[in-house]
Amino acid sequence: MHTFGQPSDMDGLIALAHDFNLALVEDAAESLGSLYRGRHTGTMGRLGALSFNGNKIVTCGGGGALLTNDIALADHAKHLSTTAKKPHAWAYVHDEVGYNFRMPNLNAALGCAQLEQLTTFVESKNKLTAAYASAIEKQFVSLHKESPDLPIRLLRAPSENRCNYWLQTILLHPSIEQQRDEILAATNAAGYATRPAWNLLHTLAPYTTAPRAPLSIGESLWRRIINLPSSAGLGQ
Ligand SMILES: *Cc1c(COP(=O)(O)O)cnc(C)c1O
Repeated sequence: MHTFGQPSDMDGLIALAHDFNLALVEDAAESLGSLYRGRHTGTMGRLGALSFNGNKIVTCGGGGALLTNDIALADHAKHLSTTAKKPHAWAYVHDEVGYNFRMPNLNAALGCAQLEQLTTFVESKNKLTAAYASAIEKQFVSLHKESPDLPIRLLRAPSENRCNYWLQTILLHPSIEQQRDEILAATNAAGYATRPAWNLLHTLAPYTTAPRAPLSIGESLWRRIINLPSSAGLGQ
């Protein structure tokens, strides 16, 4: 998963998948327009998934797309998403359990128009990141001088990647993580729509008893992440 639009460490994941003979599936729902070392997120695994939900960088109301270079897999996905009906002049034969996941043409038309704006959206969101970075620098770096222990840090992609900055993200220093909710309450009261990260799956009721490895890094990030207002309109 390319979280908040930040490309994951794909070289590491590709090597891991190769070593253990695993199929690599990329959740690129949040990262349309983000590149990992020049390659588009969602195109490096066996399969990638994009989302065009209303809260994503481009939308067509709902729905999404699969990305793959495997033609047989693409054909099968299309077959399953179009009720698994065999092509025939007049007979209705469904040869697998299929799904009605077709995107209506009206939504697709909106999606095409949105895609034309993707570059502009990504540019605006990068400008917004730069604006947040300079605000944070003014507020904290000058006060703390060269200290590596800034109270908050803006999440930025390494220079070899391009990030769509779908959601702007700050990370609280562990020493102030107890203040996250206080910060969320104060900023929301002041009219800034800040948000915590989504709850980790293993903390949700249906999965609390599911097997899992230790997830201390995810849990620490979850306690410390705050998403800032991120609309492309703010970066223009
Ligand atoms: C939005 C999102 C999804 C779901 O996409 P839908 O199009 O709403 O089904 C899946 N994974 C991630 C990481 C997302 O952000």
